[in-house]
Amino acid sequence: MIQWIAFDADDTLWHSECYYHDAQQRFLEILSPYLPDGVRGLDVLHEIEIRNLPDFGYGIKGFGISMIEAAIHVSGGQIIGSEIQKIVEVAREMIHHEIRLLDHVQETVESLAASHPLMLITKGDLMDQERKIQGSGLRNYFQSIEIVSDKTALTYRALFQKYQINPEAFLMVGNSMRSDIMPVIDLGGWGVHVPYTITWAHETVQEKPANPDRFFELEHLGPLPSLIAEIIRQAR
Ligand SMILES: [Mg+2]
Repeated sequence: MIQWIAFDADDTLWHSECYYHDAQQRFLEILSPYLPDGVRGLDVLHEIEIRNLPDFGYGIKGFGISMIEAAIHVSGGQIIGSEIQKIVEVAREMIHHEIRLLDHVQETVESLAASHPLMLITKGDLMDQERKIQGSGLRNYFQSIEIVSDKTALTYRALFQKYQINPEAFLMVGNSMRSDIMPVIDLGGWGVHVPYTITWAHETVQEKPANPDRFFELEHLGPLPSLIAEIIRQAR
């Protein structure tokens, strides 16, 4: 009965998407002199981002390359080198942003670490994720940390194998239905969805989980320890 508790990191433990949001606004400002009437710069960027995922993966580096590619595309190749440099700086600043924990994260993680082994499962650039884990001050609460290239059913199945986890004893907490919740519930685990204020369009899904008995939604991490205690109590 719930032996492992796993957490997503970006927008579950600390703010992340807001930095992408800010970067997109700065990207649009740099691009504005080049933007033809009727062309929506962010739509072009999103399309290129999704197309680039299989080649460059999740994270800031792939996002930076997509911004540059979108700028070249939208300007019909006219954007000048110094503007491209500004876009590179936007990406660099994203990598050096401060780590801000979300509300109730510190006390919740601390409290759950006393009763369960905790796992952190995050996708994105390896260096960036390591920097954030280190900067969060939460490193020592996690028994294991997995930085993966994607979070699909295959990824979770491989982790269950690696740690010899029975999916029924695994509960995943995260802000993304697509990456954190659906695949885990499909495999027989438990999912607690904690939505972030902004969700990247790529991470939203319309469907509901196949097994709603194992699906929960919380506004923030505060009530998580009592929710888990309740799940365990009911299973007895
Ligand atoms: Mg996330």
